[in-house]
Amino acid sequence: MSARVLDGTAVANQIRGELLPQVAAFAARAGRPPGLGIVLVGDDPASEIYVRSKLKSAGEAGLRADLERLPATASLDQLLTAVDRLNRSDAHDGILVQSPLPAALGEDAERRVFDAVDPRKDVDGFHPINVGRLVQNRPALVACTPSGVIELLERSGIAIAGARAVVIGRSDIVGKPMSLLLLHRHATVTICHSRTRDLPSVASEADILVSAIGRPGFVTTAFVKPGATVVDVGIMSITDRETVARMFPPGSKRWDTYQKRGALTVGDVHPEIAEVAGALSPVPGGVGPLTIVMLLKNTLAAAESRARAV
Ligand code: NAP
Repeated sequence: MSARVLDGTAVANQIRGELLPQVAAFAARAGRPPGLGIVLVGDDPASEIYVRSKLKSAGEAGLRADLERLPATASLDQLLTAVDRLNRSDAHDGILVQSPLPAALGEDAERRVFDAVDPRKDVDGFHPINVGRLVQNRPALVACTPSGVIELLERSGIAIAGARAVVIGRSDIVGKPMSLLLLHRHATVTICHSRTRDLPSVASEADILVSAIGRPGFVTTAFVKPGATVVDVGIMSITDRETVARMFPPGSKRWDTYQKRGALTVGDVHPEIAEVAGALSPVPGGVGPLTIVMLLKNTLAAAESRARAV
C-alpha cells in the first residue's frame, strides 16, 4: 500500500485564492490593506528564512507587512516597547514576534512578550485570552500551525468526528491547541509526550495521528495503524549522515539531495510509514505552507474584527 499524500501546498494555495478577494474587499472598505507587524530579534538564520517567507506571502496576498528588527543585544524592555508601538498602531491588525527569542533575554521572555501583545492583534493565537477562548470552544485567533492541520484534514475529506486521534507533543504552540481543535470537532483525543509509556502502542490506536515533537524519523511503522491518517508537523534540517541514511537509503532521491546540499529537511515521521498509513502529510510540502497562509487568514480576521469594533 502507498499512502495518499495530503498536499499542504495545494490546500494552502486554495486558501490563498479565497483570501485574495476578501483582502481586496477589506482594503476597498477600510481605505487601507490589513496590516501585519513582525518583530525579529537577533539574527538566527532559520528565523530569517521564516520571516522573509512570511513577509513575501503577506505582500503577495495584498497585505501590508512591516518588519521591525532588533539586535541580538536588545533588552526585554526594548522588545516590549516595540510590541507596544504595534499595539497602538492603527495600520497594524496583526502582530507576530518571531520565536525563538535570544536566550540572553531570559527564560520567561517569550511568555512576557506574548502576554504583552494586544489579544485582538494576536495573530499567533498565543495570548492567554485567545488560548482560553479556544479551550471554551469560542475561538477568535487560533495558533496557525494546528489550525492549518485542521484545514488540511477537512479539505482532504478526512473525517474527524468520532475518530480516535493521538497527538504526540504537548507544546502551547502546536500540541495543546491541536488537541483542542480535534476535540472540538468531536474526535476522541489522546495527548502524548516524553513521559508517555509505550508510545507506539498508544499511537497505533489512532485513526488520525499528529506528530509534533521535532525528532527526525521518530514515528515508525510501529506507531501507525494500517490505513491511519498521519500528519507530520515536525520539521528540522539534518546534516548527520547516519540519521539521513536511517530515513533515506543511499541511492534514493532524498539521499542524493542530501549528498548535493549537505543537509536535508525532514520531519518526525519515517518515510517507511507510507507503506502502512492510508494518508500522509509529508515534510516538506505538508503543514509548513499552511502555517503561513493561516497567519494571513488570522491577520485578515483581526483586521475585520477591529474594523467592526470601531
Ligand atoms: P517543543 O515545544 O519542543 O515540544 C515538543 C514536544 O514533543 C514536547 O511536548 C515533548 O514532550 C515532546 N517530545 C519530545 N521528545 C519526545 C519523545 N521522544 N517522545 C514523545 N514526546 C516527545 O516543540 P514545538 O514547538 O511543539 O514543535 C514541534 C515540532 O514541530 C518541531 O520540529 C517544530 O520545528 C515543528 N513546528 C513546525 C511548524 C510548521 O509550520 N510546520 C510550526 C511549529 C512547529 P515533553 O512535553 O514531555 O517535553
